[in-house]
Amino acid sequence: MSSIACQLSFVRSTLPEGVKLVAVSKTHPAEAIRAAYDAGHRVFGESRPQELREKHEALPKDIEWHMIGHLQTNKIKYIAPFVALIHSVDSARLAEAIQREAAKCGRTLEILLEIHVAEEETKTGWNMAELMEYVRTAPFARMPDVCVRGVMGIATNTDDGTAIRRDFMELKRCFELLQPYFGPRFDTLSMGMSHDYPLAVECGSTMVRVGSLIFGRRGLKKPVL
Ligand SMILES: *Cc1c(COP(=O)(O)O)cnc(C)c1O
Repeated sequence: MSSIACQLSFVRSTLPEGVKLVAVSKTHPAEAIRAAYDAGHRVFGESRPQELREKHEALPKDIEWHMIGHLQTNKIKYIAPFVALIHSVDSARLAEAIQREAAKCGRTLEILLEIHVAEEETKTGWNMAELMEYVRTAPFARMPDVCVRGVMGIATNTDDGTAIRRDFMELKRCFELLQPYFGPRFDTLSMGMSHDYPLAVECGSTMVRVGSLIFGRRGLKKPVL
């Protein structure tokens, strides 16, 4: 078994039924994704629209591609025709632009609302109070081609389990606060990465985004194939 297949099967074995695994393949070559694909995996996450499109073109068409990174409005068009889920919708402007692209390609685009909970001053993610205000005035109801499936978030980058757990519990609380405003398809809580996904699962995650634990460290020299 390749080491990717081996790591993949390890991560799968640690996940309870009902928690979906997004294998985060950003920066890794198509061959690495192919190894996971050959081991039976079909759900992959990428953080750059052009890279996502290139990999979509190069790889089997039954792969379910997730966009997990920050998305600029002018890049939605690269992924709109095929993307399965956009995790990183962090503004009204982006949601509205996604609606326009969805209408153009005649598809419903599924999205998650990324909420900012970490202690770091990251640039991305809704402030929950602003998001609630936006949701209360019902603009998502005026986006017929966008389906809001749930919430995504990233915990503070720390070794302190208590702090991480607090962030995950906060995301879970946000998910529950938002749920009444959406239909029954609002069922996804995307949280947990390589170093913290077991905690995320304990706190109610339904979807984990695991990269380096499956594919190895990023940012190394181009692997020899
Ligand atoms: C890169 C990335 C991941 C995966 O991170 P790992 O630590 O490699 O598991 C998950 N979520 C987002 C939003 C990412 O950008």
